[in-house]
Amino acid sequence: MTPIYDLHSHSIASDGILTSTELLNRAHTRGVTMLALTDHDTTAGVAEAQRQALHHGIDFIPGVEISTTWGGKTVHIVGLNVQPEAPALVACLARMCEVRRTRTEAIAAKLERAGIENALVSVYEQAGGASAVSRTHFARLIVQRGRARDMQQAFKKYLSNKGSAYVSVDWASLSEAVSSIRAAGGIAVVAHPGRYHYTGGGIRTFIDEFKTLGGQAIEVMSSSHSRDDVMRMLGLARDFDLYGSVGSDFHGPGNPQAELGAQSRLVDGCKPVWELLKTGQV
Ligand code: AMP
Ligand code: MN
Ligand code: MN
Ligand code: MN
Repeated sequence: MTPIYDLHSHSIASDGILTSTELLNRAHTRGVTMLALTDHDTTAGVAEAQRQALHHGIDFIPGVEISTTWGGKTVHIVGLNVQPEAPALVACLARMCEVRRTRTEAIAAKLERAGIENALVSVYEQAGGASAVSRTHFARLIVQRGRARDMQQAFKKYLSNKGSAYVSVDWASLSEAVSSIRAAGGIAVVAHPGRYHYTGGGIRTFIDEFKTLGGQAIEVMSSSHSRDDVMRMLGLARDFDLYGSVGSDFHGPGNPQAELGAQSRLVDGCKPVWELLKTGQV
C-alpha cells in the first residue's frame, strides 16, 4: 500500500465541519495511511479520532495547531505527536480558549453594532460544542444571515484585519507554543509558512528564532502553498536543517486542494517529518 500522509486537519472540536469519527472515515476512504488531527488550540477531538483510527488501521498522530503572535502577526504552530494531558500544553490551550472566549464576545458586540442581531448566542449555536470558537463560525453565521455571499466575502467585509468587526488579540508567544509542544513530547512545525509576509529580516528571522526555540519542521506542502511557495519553503527547510511536513489543512469537503491526503507527496530535497514520527526521536 502506498503511504499517504496528511499531518494537518480539523474537526468540529475547532472550525472543521466533520466529527472526529467522520474525519477518520473520510481519511480511510481516501486511502490516507497516517493522519494528524490538529485542531486550533484544542485537543478535544483527539480521543474519539484515536478510537476510529484504530478501527480503520490508520496511523493516528495526536496534534494541535496553536495560535501565536510573532512580529505583530498571527502565526500558526502545529504540534505533532503531543500528549494531550501534558500539563504545560493543557495550560497553554486553556489560556488560548480563554482568549478566544473574550474575543468572541468582542467580535459579537461589533457585529451587533453592524446590525447582526443576537450574534453572540447565534455564534455559540453555530459552533455547537466546539472547544475553540473561531472566526470561521462567525463567517458561517454572516453568510447564513445573508450579509455576505460566501465565507471569503464575510472575512473581507467583517472578520479580516481590515474588516469592520476585527478584534486584534495577543495569542501565545512563539516560545510558549514551542515549549509547551515539546513538553508534551511533540514536534513543533510551522504551519503554512508561505502565508506569512514579513518585512525587514523577513521570514528567515522568524524561522531562525523558531529553530533556536526547539522547532523541528516546517510544512513544505500545504493547500495554502503555490508551487513557488513550495520551492521557497524547501529552500528554508534545507537552509535551516528542518524536516519537511505535509498537510491538507482540511476543514471540510468541497476544496480539492485541501482534501484529505491531497498534499501527501513531499517534494524531493528535504527530510520527511514522519521519519521522526516513526523513530520517536522527539
Ligand atoms: P481564528 O483562529 O479564529 O482567528 O480563525 C482563523 C481561521 O479562519 C483559519 O484557520 C481559517 O480556517 C479561517 N479563515 C481565515 N481567513 C479566511 C478566509 N479569507 N476565508 C475563509 N476562511 C478563512
Ligand atoms: Mn481554521
Ligand atoms: Mn492555520
Ligand atoms: Mn489549520
